[in-house]
Amino acid sequence: MPRPIQALIDHSALENNLRVARRATSARIMAVIKAEGYGHGLLRVAEALADADGYALLDIRDALRLRDAGYRQAILLLEGYFDAEDMVLAAEHGVSCVIHSDWQIALLDACPKRGALDVWLKVNTGMNRLGFAPQQVAQAMERLRRHRAVRDITLMTHFANADEARGIAAPLALFNDVAGSYRAARSLSNSAALLRYPQAHGDWVRPGIMLYGASPFAETSAQQLGLKPVMTLSSRIIAVQELRAGDEVGYGSLFRAEHSMRIGIVACGYADGYPRHAPTGTPLLVDGQRTRTLGRVSMDMLFADLSALPQAGVGSSVVLWGEGMPVEEVAHAAGTISYELTCALTARVPVVTR
Ligand SMILES: *Cc1c(COP(=O)(O)O)cnc(C)c1O
Repeated sequence: MPRPIQALIDHSALENNLRVARRATSARIMAVIKAEGYGHGLLRVAEALADADGYALLDIRDALRLRDAGYRQAILLLEGYFDAEDMVLAAEHGVSCVIHSDWQIALLDACPKRGALDVWLKVNTGMNRLGFAPQQVAQAMERLRRHRAVRDITLMTHFANADEARGIAAPLALFNDVAGSYRAARSLSNSAALLRYPQAHGDWVRPGIMLYGASPFAETSAQQLGLKPVMTLSSRIIAVQELRAGDEVGYGSLFRAEHSMRIGIVACGYADGYPRHAPTGTPLLVDGQRTRTLGRVSMDMLFADLSALPQAGVGSSVVLWGEGMPVEEVAHAAGTISYELTCALTARVPVVTR
């Protein structure tokens, strides 16, 4: 028998979550499948999201994997190209490119074909990560419009606080001000802005996390948003220890029993992608019942509190996150976000699809 850990990827949940996005907007949907579809598998996710109007990712090689698999939708490279060779490949295969810097415009001169490339001009509206400052946009726009390699231009930005109380008012006003004078398609919204700010939908929305069934908001659950978890990371209990008061658990002896108790050893550790920094008290399901982790997560195992689960033992099922155990809750307990957990799933975890 193989080690009992597995990640179940639920296609119908992806389809459901795309429908939730559809219902929320009339804009076209660029499904964000960077980082191997947030750890769910690039082609697996692309297939379940085949109704999307386009796919957004980072690496031209991943874009070519999609083209090779027969996908004809729009594909957008969210960081654009990194050198002239990638730019030529993008032009050859009809892959759109974000243009965020002058050096990328300069590379366009190496494009062998006229009108070969659709570009998304990125405006920096305050995040100060990628993009042209508002006062640089007119000049960049001019260079792109005049360039023989460029076919279509879309204007885009990305919000720093769409999921936060601070919101998007200031960057949205800045973007609208800059974009107002052009007849170009617009794209602004990630999952949080798509769900919360219809006034920022523009022509293309760019949902990522919501498609995988996690809420982008701290105060609203995925279930409240109608989203279903796509990845369920599960395993089993492979050993049980009976502790007496004063007994300690795991590396660093971080947990110490105050009274006698039973604990289960779960076949899942940080080498599977479970966060090592998840502290005692991180929630998980054993036999469908909520309980907590204890002590330090090790490479291949972690500890579950079985005090309140007298029927649980060797062979009991464990859900680390997914169905019945929202990944956001686990992430919150571990001081991170759901994105990091699903992305961190490692190659040794067998994936099953449903
Ligand atoms: C990752 C990313 C998205 C998707 O964000 P979510 O919060 O996962 O919806 C959208 N736009 C850009 C530019 C991104 O980098």
